Amino acid sequence: MRTPATPDRSRYSVLVVEDDDTIGRHLETGLRSNGYTPTWSRTGAAAFTESAQTLYDVLLLDLGLPDMDGLDIARTLRARCPDLLIIILTARTDDIDVIAGLDAGADDYLVKPFSLTVLLARLRAHLRRRTIASPAQEPISLGDLIVDVTARRCILHDREVPLRPKEFELLAMLARHMGEAVSREVLMAEVWDENWFGSTKTLDVTMAALRRRLSDAAGASPLPAALPRISTLRGHGYRLEPHAAPPA
Ligand code: CA
Repeated sequence: MRTPATPDRSRYSVLVVEDDDTIGRHLETGLRSNGYTPTWSRTGAAAFTESAQTLYDVLLLDLGLPDMDGLDIARTLRARCPDLLIIILTARTDDIDVIAGLDAGADDYLVKPFSLTVLLARLRAHLRRRTIASPAQEPISLGDLIVDVTARRCILHDREVPLRPKEFELLAMLARHMGEAVSREVLMAEVWDENWFGSTKTLDVTMAALRRRLSDAAGASPLPAALPRISTLRGHGYRLEPHAAPPA
């Protein structure tokens, strides 16, 4: 039974993009002491590097940055991460800037100077709505395989594929980022522990088990089964693609 009324804030990672030292430090300290995991980037370039390495839950984005327009960052990261909560922090109060920000993919905005209390309240409201909305998540179809994240079931031709919890989470994580390269670090952090450090051998072992269980299920299926393809990207991680057609 899901009780999503109180989101677990310790799990939310926040990328703060802000070139002003005072505001940046204030946000970093305030978010951390309220249970979030913030990372602070001072430039657009640093923000792009950060967001390529980690899947963030929230982006707090200053529009006036030294190296690029914040709107370009909002647009790019929105296209790359549809689930990212983007809140624009702007000193610009003109309606046109707010509209441009929302058009660029931001979910909300705060006009500077804003209070930390207000920011935290907005974050709670947005994240609570997302937590409540998530059970309605549609099952993901990967060829003949269906990954139902809400029900935590993996189905091949109407038969359940028995997966251990970590195997399911690994498959679901790759399925949510279908067609994208997902790094080993991100998988370790998301599927195992956000404070993970050290060996990633457990990832290899779980991936091998997941592949074996999927191919066993396909072998036992009375119908030809098109399985998703999980490619190993050497030195990086994995990428899942839905299989086009079963082998003839
Ligand atoms: Ca600025």
